[in-house]
Amino acid sequence: MANHREGLAIGIDLGTTYSCVAVWQNERVEIIVNDQGNRTTPSFVAFTPAERLVGDAAKNQVARNATNSVFDAKRLIGRRFSDPLVQSDINLWSFKVIEGPSDKPMIVVNYKGEEKHFAAEEISSMVLKKMREIAEAYLGTTVKNAVVTVPAYFNDSQRKATKDAGGIAGMNVLRIINEPTAAAIAYGLDKIADSIGKRNVLIFDLGGGTADVSLLTIEKGVFEVKAVAGDTHLGGEDFDNRMVNHFVEIFKRQHKVDIGVNSKALRRLRTACEKAKRILSCAIETNIEVDSLYNGIDFFSNITRAKFAELNMDLFRKCVDIVEKCLSDAEMDKSCVDVVVLSGGSSRIPKVQQLLQDFFDGKELCKSINPDEAVAYGAAVQAAILTGMKNEKLQDIVLLDVTPLSLGVEVLGEEMSIIIPRNTATPTEKVENYTTACDNQTSILLSVYEGERAKTCDNNFLGQFRLPGIPPAPSGVASINVCFNIDTNGILNVSAKEMTTGVMRNITITNDESRLSSEEIDRMVKDAETYKVEDDEYRKKVKAKVALENYAYNMRNTINDEKIGAKLAPAAKKNIKDAVEQAIQWIDDLQLVDSELYDDKLKWLENICNPIRSYGKQ
Ligand code: AMP
Repeated sequence: MANHREGLAIGIDLGTTYSCVAVWQNERVEIIVNDQGNRTTPSFVAFTPAERLVGDAAKNQVARNATNSVFDAKRLIGRRFSDPLVQSDINLWSFKVIEGPSDKPMIVVNYKGEEKHFAAEEISSMVLKKMREIAEAYLGTTVKNAVVTVPAYFNDSQRKATKDAGGIAGMNVLRIINEPTAAAIAYGLDKIADSIGKRNVLIFDLGGGTADVSLLTIEKGVFEVKAVAGDTHLGGEDFDNRMVNHFVEIFKRQHKVDIGVNSKALRRLRTACEKAKRILSCAIETNIEVDSLYNGIDFFSNITRAKFAELNMDLFRKCVDIVEKCLSDAEMDKSCVDVVVLSGGSSRIPKVQQLLQDFFDGKELCKSINPDEAVAYGAAVQAAILTGMKNEKLQDIVLLDVTPLSLGVEVLGEEMSIIIPRNTATPTEKVENYTTACDNQTSILLSVYEGERAKTCDNNFLGQFRLPGIPPAPSGVASINVCFNIDTNGILNVSAKEMTTGVMRNITITNDESRLSSEEIDRMVKDAETYKVEDDEYRKKVKAKVALENYAYNMRNTINDEKIGAKLAPAAKKNIKDAVEQAIQWIDDLQLVDSELYDDKLKWLENICNPIRSYGKQ
């Protein structure tokens, strides 16, 4: 049998705008340069009448061939066409995206004179293949295995689609890891020798399309992700857009024409703006020059670093908000953060750095890792570990990620019973025991949800399955173990087992339709905070109702037990039986009421059932 882990394995940072590949060799990580001598490669694929281009060659010809040049495939991967984010992105792109089967977005291009439709996975696979080829040319050998990174907030379906893209590129994806985690590995490896005790490290990763903040604790080579927060639509491209809009307005004022409707002119202007933005990270002003931008008009203008910062100030502040959110999720004060690590090309922007530094009360930011390369660096380290490379620097590194939302099942009508709480380190496995709600119930329907609200209808439904074969018994007797397992790729497996018969059923939550986008996750977390009081009240009511219900069913089972029933005087037995049935009827007839009412009813029933207690104790 072939060993999948044989041979060299590479680490690939599959970025929204740029990708980077690295390998562990000669006892260190080497960032691999591409055929143009660049250490990062544009995540661009272009189709022409003659050929398909990937990387720098594709990006360089975008202005001439905008409608057939595809970028940002990462924004589409694992998403639905009807997703509002996809819809708003489509308006910004020069290439066409249409609705394919099952609400899947399909990219439409003209290739060699024919209309072709591609899924985002296919475009990403072309980028991954290019990265693989870059590595193979450098290493002089075939490369089959890779670790690929994704934003921390990617859901199941996005992770799976990324893995599929690796498969389409002919690679064995050893593992999908979170980008900030990879950046932390890079950092941890540098510092591993002198890491004494526990350090809280905040990874601020601002790339071309996404902003991810993670809080990790690193102790003796063990990385534990305490919390993650992010925005999948915040990064360098948005900053470019602000500058583009600024110059479109200037062009309008100067020449009385709106170039905003001309995709080719916009594309050329955007390329010039991106270049200017990079320059502004080290210079305080720069020029913008585009020959024959529109109708033969040459465009020439100037922008200062301060103006660029002003155009983007709200977006830069948003980055700091994400940091705050991550800290509050981890229930950690900013003063407890030992190190702040910058990752992603956009973290080079001086104003962003200044806002971050101010937020951390002047703390020095860690820039020792090249921000464009940190993620690929960490992925290469992880790839080396997974392929069993022996090196003392690689020893003892263990990785833990976290779940962005709580996961659980629906119980008692509509209550969310959490099995894996939000921000639990993964991979993980948790088992909870449940029972039947009705007498003689022979099957149980398990509905799986993610979210923070007390009622399942306010959370996100992930899937359901039925566990049959429960032996008929009074309610509360059956014992069903429900197991939630999240694997190293963040994929959820749910199983349920009836403990006396051993009957088992399971489900893998990989439904492309069901998992949430990071915006949805953000919204749900915010909603949960807003509705906390309401939810707590609801939980209190449900808890009180369950306590009464359990007690009543327990008493019903006890009184029907011949040993105990025979010891009671017939009048007392009837009295208890009537009270129990009355209580059950009372619960069934009412909608959820105040917890005090259930508590009172419970006290009343306990008083009546007292004789049983004393018999039970004998
Ligand atoms: P990444 O996704 O980490 O590769 O980051 C790519 C983004 O970083 C792109 O939007 C680039 O324009 C941006 N970027 C790269 N270098 C710089 C720089 N020196 N200053 C500002 N932005 C940069």
